[in-house]
Amino acid sequence: MPAKVLIVEDEESLVEILRYNLQAAGYTVVHAASGTDAIMIVREERPDLIILDWMLPGLAGIEICRQIRARPETKALPIIILTARGEESDRIRGLQTGADDYVVKPFSVSELMARVTALLRRVSPDRIADTLEGNGIKFDRIAHRVTRFGRELNVGPTEYRLLEQFMENKGRVLSRAQLLDGTWGRDAEVDERTVDVHVGRLRKAIVSGNQRDPIRTVRGAGYVFDGDE
Ligand code: CA
Repeated sequence: MPAKVLIVEDEESLVEILRYNLQAAGYTVVHAASGTDAIMIVREERPDLIILDWMLPGLAGIEICRQIRARPETKALPIIILTARGEESDRIRGLQTGADDYVVKPFSVSELMARVTALLRRVSPDRIADTLEGNGIKFDRIAHRVTRFGRELNVGPTEYRLLEQFMENKGRVLSRAQLLDGTWGRDAEVDERTVDVHVGRLRKAIVSGNQRDPIRTVRGAGYVFDGDE
């Protein structure tokens, strides 16, 4: 799944420019026009990065930043703040509150795009890498192709997304609920048993002969894709 960027901005024309450019760069875009919406959307959509305007109706940028940093599941979420020219104190307060970067309005869109990519590359490189690798498997997002030790694998669409989620989280145990959210989406009406079925199919697709099974079942917790030994 492409990395998801949340734009929190009330200026509609700017939102459209950012949306257009982010989508052209291959990102999925979600938008919130107010601070209160932003908090809700962060919870529901789980973006990979936030572009956060400082001056917003409802909750101010600084307060959104503080709330995001206070929650364990979002405390590492990358945030770029947009501040108005000359508001030096806002910029400093923003960085103190935990923003990772800032851009002063008016800004060049290409510069902001470069910062989005740089920040994602630093914080979650696997979310934007063209290929993911591990255990002989090469997951090619550009060609939409999976190989293991050079041999092309026949992976169904659901197993493809599942494998992507596993390889983005190498060495980390994922619960069935996390796999459901990440691969099927939060609103999907499938149960956790379905996850087991598709993990089984994925294993069948990626392990042949006496090759090592990179997916380990962790009793009572879920599954983990083992990194290279
Ligand atoms: Ca604004």
